[in-house]
Amino acid sequence: MSRIAYVNGRYLPHGDAAVHIEDRGYQFADGIYEVVAVAGGQFVDEIGHLQRLDRSLLELEMASPMARPAMQFVMREVVRRNKVRNGTLYMQISRGVAPRDHAFPTRPTRPGTVMTAKSLSQDRHRIQVENGVAVVTMPDIRWARCDIKTIALLPNCLAKQAAREAGSFEALFVDNAGMVTEGSSTNAWIIDQEGNLITRPASNEILNGITRLALRQLVADEGLTLVERAFDVAELKTAREVFITSSSSFVMPVVQVDDAVIGNGRPGSRTLRLREIYEDYMGGASRDAAATG
Ligand code: PMP
Repeated sequence: MSRIAYVNGRYLPHGDAAVHIEDRGYQFADGIYEVVAVAGGQFVDEIGHLQRLDRSLLELEMASPMARPAMQFVMREVVRRNKVRNGTLYMQISRGVAPRDHAFPTRPTRPGTVMTAKSLSQDRHRIQVENGVAVVTMPDIRWARCDIKTIALLPNCLAKQAAREAGSFEALFVDNAGMVTEGSSTNAWIIDQEGNLITRPASNEILNGITRLALRQLVADEGLTLVERAFDVAELKTAREVFITSSSSFVMPVVQVDDAVIGNGRPGSRTLRLREIYEDYMGGASRDAAATG
């Protein structure tokens, strides 16, 4: 099936979809993005993603290309035209096209908006969830505004590539104080020997994941103790369980950090329970939408 992309008001065959060479997203990474999971034909945490998108725009003093209902219409249209039931929607907004100059354009520019959607098999992670994944740690060389979801992802790309070359699934960043910040495209969590669930608090040093926020709420409902604090690499390596979260990998068990094996080297039971809870939550979103038509 041919894929369709939305580019600045038009739905185009993927292969013909392009932006101008002086789009500031292309030249300066002057833009923001979101990745929204689609489960059973419905968006997971659509409003959370749209709120974070608005926040990113605001932080960069960028205009929204359209009002929220129009945005939601295009989001659905892209998913519909690509016949995605389970997968992801990618949405990106740049500051638009202007003669190359680092400072913002003085004349108003039309934001550059792109959306794509792709199908992903729902059990694509089955083997990884069954066996758990390995991660590597590396210095966090990113800027001081990791809370903004910008398309400037070069340190994240370098880290993910280093992870791949090490045969690992993800790279976890470590700050100058030796504390774990987050993964290159995930948030990091540990469960300590006492059974406390620990994750770094939201700040300018991490992206406040929408999956993180949902799970934070779900664990409260489960009666688990959540402690939001930073943890160091030693604590990470001696944790009872480790896992990472994101809109594309949901809740992913980690069984190895660098050369250290976590627990007995198998995904932790609490982690698997949290994945189950999160999958129920995702399924619930589509069931609720089906029930209300
Ligand atoms: N941290 C970073 C650096 C990310 O890129 C992502 C994924 N976009 C996340 C965390 C997880 O965020 P979410 O749960 O919203 O996908």
